[in-house]
Order: sequence, then structure tokens, then C-alpha cells
Amino acid sequence: GPSKRSQHTGAPKTPKQTSKERNKKFLCATPPTVLQDTRGKTEYGRGRQLGEGGFARCFLVQNKEGGLFAAKTVAKKSLQSQKKRAKFFGEIQVHKTMIHPNIVKFIECFEDPDNIYMILELCPNKSLMDMLRARKRFTEPETRFFVLQLLGALKYMHGKRVIHRDLKLGNIFLDENMNVKLGDFGLAALLVDENDRKKTICGTPNYIAPEVLFGGGKEGQGHSFEVDLWGVGVIMYAMLVGRTPFQANDVDSIYRKIRHNTFTWPEDVPVSSAAKSLVNSILEHDPEARPSLDDVANHRFFKSGFFPRSIPSSATKQEPIWR
Ligand code: ADP
Repeated sequence: GPSKRSQHTGAPKTPKQTSKERNKKFLCATPPTVLQDTRGKTEYGRGRQLGEGGFARCFLVQNKEGGLFAAKTVAKKSLQSQKKRAKFFGEIQVHKTMIHPNIVKFIECFEDPDNIYMILELCPNKSLMDMLRARKRFTEPETRFFVLQLLGALKYMHGKRVIHRDLKLGNIFLDENMNVKLGDFGLAALLVDENDRKKTICGTPNYIAPEVLFGGGKEGQGHSFEVDLWGVGVIMYAMLVGRTPFQANDVDSIYRKIRHNTFTWPEDVPVSSAAKSLVNSILEHDPEARPSLDDVANHRFFKSGFFPRSIPSSATKQEPIWR
């Protein structure tokens, strides 16, 4: 690449860009104050920006009846490559068919000359990653509540032959009642045939399952539903400890830790033996030795202490007081 050449010539190296920075120039310009379908059918008033990701910006919007939603906005010019178009329309197709109380509801999709708009159920309490940042870690009652709802969403998806493949705290949103809403189907794959195992490498390094990195146990088998179980293990560890289990300063070190399955429980963070035993059983190198979603949901961790009926919104900022 060009940066290698500049090393040889002694020219200053171009600083390494993160994928987010690289994509910045593709992010859509601020859309009009009223979002309108080219055919003039749909109409939403646009409010403030809720956030931005890989190549989408998200805005608070309101329909004519006063209902509030999130509009995920993608500039058409950012979808010029066939790969991006495929990823984007794949995301829409999969998401449209997912109707479950713990999955972000896909309302509709339309376009104007510049952008494509995906109208989604609004999750005003942001993501579990935002919450974990503010809280450092969650209590075990909160972890029980969030993980069980996540398991419900995954059970539904897997029943429809869909693997999420990109489970992480930043993809798990919270609605106004602090219920889990699984979102971001960018990497979700519809498994038409259960034996049609996916062979592409994807996912965020910290959450990536070993078989995705190094290939399945049996030669060339690829990976399947078990990668989502692994994600649940990483997420649950992060909720209880405050950081992911294979955390390191560089990607190679993360990969090395995942390959050798080296994670430990810090001594200064109190975690119950039930919680540890559940996470330990999920973070099993061999995908076939991992528990099923039902095995996880039936684990004693979920019966071994207080299970809240709901979580107060104040929990996004401080530890809840149960009463
Ligand atoms: P990308 O797929 O490009 O990464 P995301 O789906 O992560 O885009 O959305 C980017 C940001 O927009 C999120 O980090 C979040 O802050 C916000 N966001 C996404 N979906 C919603 C939603 N349904 N409700 C509220 N905010 C959302």
C-alpha cells in the first residue's frame, strides 16, 4: 500500500485511520427538516441527532400523529459499492421480518433524492454500552433481567434461522421502560439451510467467537448459531466485570487471548459463583460444547437471587435501589 512506500522513501507516514474516520466522508449531510418520500407519501419531522455509526446517522423524528421514532439515515452516494449496497439491503430485508418485543421494530423504509431512511422504534435510553460506561458495571439482578430478555430475542431469531453475528453491548438498545431491544442487523445472516454455515469473518474483535477467527472444529465447517451464544457470554462477563473478557491494547493480542481462551475473573470484583459458572460454560472454545439458549435460560444463575420485574430509567446513571 502507499503507506509502506512512504516508509521506504522516508516520507512522513500517513496516520492510520479508524474505519469510523474512513467512513466519515460517506455520512449523509444533515437531512431536510421534514423527511419526505420521493412520491410524497410519507412525512416525518426531523429532530436532533441521536447518534452515528459505520455509515449511518440516526435522528429523532416525529410522524403526523405525534409518534416518536428513530430515523436511520444513509446517504445514497455511500452505497455506490456493490458490497455496501448488499450489506444495507440485506440488513433491511432481515430486519423487516423480525417482530419480537426485544428486537428494535422496523417501521418502514423510504427514500428521497439524497438519502435512504429507515424508520425504527425509538430507544430513548440508548445502548447497554452507554449505560455500562456510565455505571462501570451492573448488579446481578440487572444482569439477570437484561440477559434473559436478550436470550428471548435470540431464541426468536434462531427459530427463524437468523444468526445475529454482531452481538455487542452497543447493539443492544433500551426502550423507555428499560426493556432490551436488539438492533443493528448489519451482519445478521439468514440461514436458509441449517447446514449452510457461514464462512466469512466478521464481528467486533472483542466479541468474536474463536471458530469465526480460526475456522470450525471440523475442517472447513464455518460457524453457526453458536457464535451468538459466545456473544452472550462476552456480554454477560462485561456486564458483571465492567470490561470484556479478552480485552487487550491491540487486535493481535485480543485474537491471541481468544485463541487460547485466556480469561480470568478479577479478584477485586465480587461475582457470584452461579454467574461465573454460567459464563465459564458459555465461553467454551468448542462451539458444540456450548450450552443451548434454553440451557442458559434454565441455569441456576437466573433463580439464585432477586429477579427485578422492571428496571428504573435512573439505572442508566446510577445503581438502582430495589424496593
Ligand atoms: P451503524 O449500523 O452504521 O453502526 P447504528 O445502528 O449503530 O449505525 O446507529 C448509530 C447510532 O444511532 C447508535 O449508536 C445509537 O446512538 C443511535 N441509534 C441507532 N438506532 C437507534 C434507535 N432505534 N433508537 C435510538 N437511537 C438509535
